[in-house]
Amino acid sequence: MRHSPAINDTEDLNVLLSRFPRVSLAHLPTPLEHLPRLSKHLGGPEIYVKRDDCTGLGTGGNKTRKLEFLMADAQQRKATAVITQGAVQSNHARQTAAAACKLGLRCVLVFEKRVDDAPESYRTSGNVLLDHIYGAEIREVEKGTDMTTAMQGVADELAAEGESPYIIPGGGSNAIGALGYVDCALELLSQANRNGIAMDHVVHATGSAGTQAGLLVGLKATHSNVPLLGIGVNAPQEIQEDKVWQLALETAEFVGAPGVVQRQDVIANCNYVGEGYGIPTEAMNDAVLLLARLEGLLFDPVYSGKGLAGMIDQINSGVLQNARHVVFVHTGGTAGLFGYREQLRTDA
Ligand SMILES: *Cc1c(COP(=O)(O)O)cnc(C)c1O
Repeated sequence: MRHSPAINDTEDLNVLLSRFPRVSLAHLPTPLEHLPRLSKHLGGPEIYVKRDDCTGLGTGGNKTRKLEFLMADAQQRKATAVITQGAVQSNHARQTAAAACKLGLRCVLVFEKRVDDAPESYRTSGNVLLDHIYGAEIREVEKGTDMTTAMQGVADELAAEGESPYIIPGGGSNAIGALGYVDCALELLSQANRNGIAMDHVVHATGSAGTQAGLLVGLKATHSNVPLLGIGVNAPQEIQEDKVWQLALETAEFVGAPGVVQRQDVIANCNYVGEGYGIPTEAMNDAVLLLARLEGLLFDPVYSGKGLAGMIDQINSGVLQNARHVVFVHTGGTAGLFGYREQLRTDA
């Protein structure tokens, strides 16, 4: 077991983070807003939303925080092109395409046709429309393709053309990208302190694990002891928690705070996935309509909507009964709504 260095407060962690190259892409800090009508409706804890859907780049979302560190690394390595991968309606791909434009880099997106029999708007609207507007080059591969190999193939191709390619993993989830969410934890803690909100729980949708791993490292390294709950949108619990755990270990070490996260800190509830990744559920659809009509907020069908459905069910079933203040991190994805036009019910 590695010994943890002297990390005592948020200032120490800020110093550690400031050593990493970073480009400014996001509107920060994102607001922390109270949701009075949802809180009253559910009759449980006071609910707040951390508006990471408002990071500002190409309709916003959580990947922009990760890309501040990933793109800076790409620039430092003198990259001329970035390659990343995801599902066809990937929010990460869309934010990467936008960041690449802003920084003058070529962008190739490798899409796995993860959703079978996808309707027209899934294939052409929402994030895909924006990818085209950003001029990203799109390569589609069949479901089940090894995406790391596929991206390496594109990298070899680009290198042969004289480019210097930089591969960003799916969701921007490696230790570099997760730094964006270590930073978000610091931002959230400082906002909560300033506004006198004693956070009892933080909840968010978890997929490629970088958001949860980064938040965990940030919350633990500062000794805040606020429990974090990830709502899974893809893998079963054990696989999801292992993925988060591995990346949290790596991120803690990378940032200079090894040993701050314990295995039992990693909690992912994967009971709200439904039939699978990107397949709408009734509860997600209800949650999207509820938040729109009570608070004027938009959530997405693949991630934040399922995360919200999970949080609402956890409150309704009494699991978060003793919490007085719960913060839901809105990770974005609103553009994805347009890709789900045929699959979304708009009557409550
Ligand atoms: C990618 C994404 C997530 C999940 O974040 P990870 O870091 O991949 O776990 C949640 N919400 C939205 C809208 C996303 O695009």
